[in-house]
Amino acid sequence: MQESTRQQYLQAMGIQLWESRWLPEIDEAGSVAVKTGDIEPESLMGEEPVVDIKHDYSGLGWSELQSKVESCENCHLHESRIYPVFGAGDQNAKVMLIGEAPGAEEDRQGEPFIGQAGQLLNQMLLAIGFKREHVYITNILKCRPPNNRDPETKEINSCESYLHRQITLVAPELVVALGRVAAQSLLKSSTKLGDLRGQLHQVQGLSIPVLVTYHPAYLLKNPLEKRKAWEDLKFVLANVSKGKNE
Ligand code: SF4
Repeated sequence: MQESTRQQYLQAMGIQLWESRWLPEIDEAGSVAVKTGDIEPESLMGEEPVVDIKHDYSGLGWSELQSKVESCENCHLHESRIYPVFGAGDQNAKVMLIGEAPGAEEDRQGEPFIGQAGQLLNQMLLAIGFKREHVYITNILKCRPPNNRDPETKEINSCESYLHRQITLVAPELVVALGRVAAQSLLKSSTKLGDLRGQLHQVQGLSIPVLVTYHPAYLLKNPLEKRKAWEDLKFVLANVSKGKNE
């Protein structure tokens, strides 16, 4: 991607170009030193006991899996949802993005990451040469928690088997966890988001590397953190093979 084009996308993300000391510097080996941040809110997992609710979807293909989600009543969120939000994008993507849960607009339309946060996510992807349709995007929860409250552990556990089957089917080179809830749920961790950034992790039971960064909705409220998100995006570039992304 030409530098001028990248800078246009960065401007659209709201990143100040005059702060050149943090602009992309990936060395010849493709490695990027990313500092961990000093962010962020309390842990998702807290002291709430983990409820183990497993469903076996290991034999299901995409269409059967989506049908299961559309008729799912495994947790009480099915009672208040308009549409479940299964996921969207390239089912053979190199990069899979996982957020927290559908919001009001996503619930109305059945699509992940639309609205303002979705637009920022699109700009973030374009800044590293990925169009939205070349990644796969989904959430930890497929149904919207009322009033956008944080997901409960039992809801996460009820929905987890769908997500794990999606990750297995996509088999991406890299999973990017967007935000604290996605990161802590995927990694079964109570570590702060800032301490999870800047290194590769693995989803428990799946040999797929996971990178942690901020949720676009958080970046909209905290625009100064966009520079840290850009550091994470450079890390994505350094850990995904080159190919047909543009
Ligand atoms: S959130 Fe997940 S487990 Fe709960 S009803 Fe929706 S699809 Fe089923």
